[in-house]
Amino acid sequence: MTDAILVLNAGSSSLKFSVFVDRADAAPQLTLRGQIEGILTRPTFVARDAGGATLAESDLGGAMQPGHQGATDFLLDWLEQRLGGQRLVAAGHRVVHGGREFSAPVRVNAAVLDALERLVPLAPLHQPHNVATIRAVAARAPDLAQVACFDTAFHTAQPPLAQAFALPRHLTEAGIRRYGFHGLSYEYIAHMLPSVDMRAATGRTVVAHLGNGASMCAMLAGKSAASTMGFTALDGLPMGTRCGAIDPGVLLYLLDRHGMDARGLEKLLYHESGLLGVSGVSSDMRALLASGDVHAAEAVDLFVYRIVREIGSLAAALGGLDALVFTAGIGENTPLIRARVCRAVAWLGIELDESANTDGGPRISSAVSRTSAWVLPTNEELMIALHTRAALAVTA
Ligand code: ADP
Repeated sequence: MTDAILVLNAGSSSLKFSVFVDRADAAPQLTLRGQIEGILTRPTFVARDAGGATLAESDLGGAMQPGHQGATDFLLDWLEQRLGGQRLVAAGHRVVHGGREFSAPVRVNAAVLDALERLVPLAPLHQPHNVATIRAVAARAPDLAQVACFDTAFHTAQPPLAQAFALPRHLTEAGIRRYGFHGLSYEYIAHMLPSVDMRAATGRTVVAHLGNGASMCAMLAGKSAASTMGFTALDGLPMGTRCGAIDPGVLLYLLDRHGMDARGLEKLLYHESGLLGVSGVSSDMRALLASGDVHAAEAVDLFVYRIVREIGSLAAALGGLDALVFTAGIGENTPLIRARVCRAVAWLGIELDESANTDGGPRISSAVSRTSAWVLPTNEELMIALHTRAALAVTA
């Protein structure tokens, strides 16, 4: 029997999973991955092997109870039949918020679960689903070790100034400060950088995680120094459907003059803004680039413009720039966006190698470029598997 680690990433309507075989002398190895979507409505299930070949695909209809417990029960049953010679030794969870308490992954027990529950108000759209899934695993497999891995933890290394809002002190002390997110992705990139480029690993590097959710992180010697996301995952760059940075006066105006309430604002800022709101076409970068609609082009222009401005801000926080890294769905797959960003930040010493960029890198800056630019695929699941294995070793 070989040991296996289950990695879970729970959303409001989906449960994404991966299984890694734990090998003592090497990195955990992905064996399968998949997701259950529509867990509250019409659940569908898909699982693929590490090469992407479909292992199972079905409409779950009456085969599972709706909700996170039902999805977890179905998945654990399916894995029990599927894994054969592999034995699940732990579940590692992506948890969006670790607050001020958790600056590293933690083995889950009743006290930790209570602490995670108390953080729900800080991330009401994500944290409840993470917690529900941890509880669901505990109910179905009480002996399985569980480890919570946080999107905020990587950023706890930031200096206090980078974490502060200019608000009265009692509000800062009550936890209203910048946390930053996408930390597992940034941590993975930081983990990879020494094998890619020592100057990027030890110097001043901005990492652009450009996916459906998008943010950037300024790293000094592989540690977070500043990030574009703040108290919530709304701040910073425009995203698929989220607005990014906005003058807080706009929110007061909408409350006062447009008869909006907190729930209405939440819907507007999280679900109706960003690339979708500006384009009126789609939240998906592929669709925008394929569209001839002038508003789709404007949405792409605004996305690039905001990235470029934020790179300037993050480079200022670092006192200069040695390397720029692109990652996540758009960052890894869209040479056009990378090229437009790199050309606009040529003043920071980046000289794009056009053909390397078209070919996907990893290095996309020319040999004489003073500042290097890279495309590196992120792997949050592997980071969670590594953390889960390490947490098990500590508590074994
Ligand atoms: P999430 O934040 O949901 O994990 P992803 O990292 O998967 O998001 O990124 C989704 C975004 O990446 C979408 O805007 C999508 O259009 C874009 N994307 C993914 N693959 C490609 C591709 N091959 N070409 C262009 N854009 C892509």
